[in-house]
Amino acid sequence: LGPTICVGEILVEIMARSVGDGFREPIDLVGPFASGAPAIFIGQCAKIGGSAGLIGAVGRDDFGRLNLDRLKADGADISAIVVDDLYPTGSAFVRYRSDGSRDFVYNIATSAAARFGWSEAVETLVHRAGHLHVMGSALSMGSAVDVIERALPIIKARGGSLSFDPNLRKEIVYDADTERRFRDLVAAADLLLPSGEELERAAGVEGEDAAIRRLFEMDVKEIALKCGAAGAKVFRPGAAPIFAAAFVVDEIDPTGAGDCFGGAYVASRRLGLGPEEALTIANAAGARNVTRQGPMEGAGTREELGRFIAETARRSR
Ligand code: ATP
Repeated sequence: LGPTICVGEILVEIMARSVGDGFREPIDLVGPFASGAPAIFIGQCAKIGGSAGLIGAVGRDDFGRLNLDRLKADGADISAIVVDDLYPTGSAFVRYRSDGSRDFVYNIATSAAARFGWSEAVETLVHRAGHLHVMGSALSMGSAVDVIERALPIIKARGGSLSFDPNLRKEIVYDADTERRFRDLVAAADLLLPSGEELERAAGVEGEDAAIRRLFEMDVKEIALKCGAAGAKVFRPGAAPIFAAAFVVDEIDPTGAGDCFGGAYVASRRLGLGPEEALTIANAAGARNVTRQGPMEGAGTREELGRFIAETARRSR
């Protein structure tokens, strides 16, 4: 029924090589790496053979070129990505602290990242699309919200579906409007891809079982719960939960694991695989991605993920 599409921020990430406290002294950096949650998601989707397109914007500069080249090489449709003449491509400097938390210096607000809107190219892509994936991080970006609100009814009217990754971020302000949009997306989603506390936040109730029950009452048809280094689970109404034990890997850089998991899960389901097989592939996509520095560098093709699954041990429960 047409490609999976996603809307939102495209940026480059430049990472500190050393663990430490922020950027207040000269340190060794590595990058730029292609990034932005929607870009990571769509890149992984396309890489395993799912038809996928991204709506967003980059600047007319090397960082923008790097992102476009990367998405194109992964097989994504980049026809609805604006190349902006005025503002530079968005960027984020990232440094891990020893407790695993991260410090960021962003240039998104004064970048090209949000400089897109409904256009002929967007309209063409949306009218071909069979699935919309929404990242919670897009809810604070006015241009993304506008496109999502116009695209969703068109895609649903064609019999298409919606997935939602709550993607809660501490730098996003959940004002009344953002909160309402968040609730509306949970209620409209066919598939939800939360991680950790996002499950309870999406359901509005505490406890995993109660949250799952509440979401099913809201007509969510499938929940793929990401559990980091503890693996992942899938819940569907009337079916036993499916658990995937995590693959044993050396975690080099956890950024992007959730987006790769999501891209692989959505693409696999849309390619007609069952939830169990899709979960295995997504669990592998997330795990493989943490073994490389850079948010998209560990994304795998179907063959690479197949090899990874065959060769990698899994944790015992
Ligand atoms: P992010 O927002 O940083 O992209 P997330 O919180 O949405 O991540 P995670 O739960 O961290 O998502 O990771 C997604 C999936 O990737 C996990 O459910 C698991 O399948 C896999 N994964 C992540 N980290 C590891 C790890 N250290 N070892 C094995 N698998 C992992």
